[in-house]
Amino acid sequence: MRRLLVLGAGTAGTMAVNKLRPRLARDEWRITVVDSSDTHHYQPGYLFIPFGIYRPDEVSKPLRRFIPTGVDLVSGEIDLVEPERQVVRLADGTELPYDYLIIATGTTPRPEQSEGMAGSEWRRSIHEFYTYEGAVALAEKLKTWEGGRLVVQIVEMPIKCPVAPLEFTFLADAFFTEQGMRDRVDLTYVTPLEGAFTKPVASRYLGDMLEDRRVALEADFLLERVDPAARTLISYDEREIPFDLLVTVPVNMGADYVARSGLGNELNYVPVDKQTLLSRAHDTIFAIGDASDIPASKAGSVAHFSMETFTENFARHVEGRQMIHRFDGHANCFIETGHGKGLLIDFNYETEPLPGTYPLPGVGPFSLLKETELNHWGKVLFRWMYWNVLLPGKQLPLPALMSMAGKQRVPS
Ligand SMILES: Cc1cc2nc3c(=O)[nH]c(=O)nc-3n(C[C@H](O)[C@H](O)[C@H](O)COP(=O)(O)OP(=O)(O)OC[C@H]3O[C@@H](n4cnc5c(N)ncnc54)[C@H](O)[C@@H]3O)c2cc1C
Repeated sequence: MRRLLVLGAGTAGTMAVNKLRPRLARDEWRITVVDSSDTHHYQPGYLFIPFGIYRPDEVSKPLRRFIPTGVDLVSGEIDLVEPERQVVRLADGTELPYDYLIIATGTTPRPEQSEGMAGSEWRRSIHEFYTYEGAVALAEKLKTWEGGRLVVQIVEMPIKCPVAPLEFTFLADAFFTEQGMRDRVDLTYVTPLEGAFTKPVASRYLGDMLEDRRVALEADFLLERVDPAARTLISYDEREIPFDLLVTVPVNMGADYVARSGLGNELNYVPVDKQTLLSRAHDTIFAIGDASDIPASKAGSVAHFSMETFTENFARHVEGRQMIHRFDGHANCFIETGHGKGLLIDFNYETEPLPGTYPLPGVGPFSLLKETELNHWGKVLFRWMYWNVLLPGKQLPLPALMSMAGKQRVPS
């Protein structure tokens, strides 16, 4: 029997085992997936918990439910990969040998990477919504917060779902308006980028939307440290931003075992070929989802769109055939903008988000870079799609690679 070992049963790892199990003959391949958690979280739902739109129990399900029959699930903390021996060691000492390894252990926020962040004010005046616990704690905080200076801040790129902090800001504006206390909240959006977003056209649209909502934009802000006593953010160029409530997106990093195993870059992401997801260093290792260093958004949609080319290529690679399919970095993100509306962006490695309609030219029904109610319903429906279509590895009636159909070219 040949052994395929998948590290991580989150979005990408779960989709991969569901796609690969039917592709790899059961009498030839044993597939094992390892995860330290017994719960699968729908992370896009974390955004809605602070505002009471989702209850915490609406974003979690038992992880085992999504692992298909014919795949072994091992519960444990991954401690080390030994690529030369083709063995993975767990924290309890168990050794799992493999012929092929897929790394899918994602990325997590690391507040301890910024001086002053994870100290005395953590979960008091300094909050985050990138973890389940953080989103729940922030919901509690917002129930009694009486207003003041609310600063939404990104420490450093890349982060998973780079639009989520903008969505949080739009939803905060709507939430405080609906609570009748918007006048008592001074909202500031702080980013290390030059503008509201990574790509010029979308950055212009999203920057205008911040302005319309009376949100101050503090761009090019590279955080040096947080002064928790003074409740102030301090940048390397000595700008200071005071806050009463800070909602931060801390530095995001891949799993620590990746670094210990000598498999990662400085942020513990695995360097791979951006079209095939094969490790640059090892012919038997792939990295999928947020765990890799591909220059695409770290998003569930990217993990999903990459899965088609990845599984085709994987099946060819293990048979000694050339990998002929090329992933293009396709990302597709609904951006919740508050008051029952949303925006949609669709882009890839080469093409930035452009206005237009999606997926059909003229017809849509979704609008690109335009606020509509239908885009909001797209985001709402996405949760159902996630549990019922994407995770089980079912086919979506949408092309996996980005299409220019419906997109309008505009100058950057
Ligand atoms: C607030 C927020 C909003 C988001 N919104 C969107 C959105 O609207 N659209 C979108 O497409 N994406 C969104 N995302 C991003 C999306 O959730 C991630 O990109 C996606 O989950 C990545 O999948 P993954 O499998 O790479 O990692 P994960 O889904 O994070 O899975 C990693 C798995 O590895 C396991 N693991 C890690 N380390 C170890 C270890 N050492 N030992 C054992 N197990 C380990 C974890 O327990 C986890 O199960 C959002 C994310 C957040 C936080």
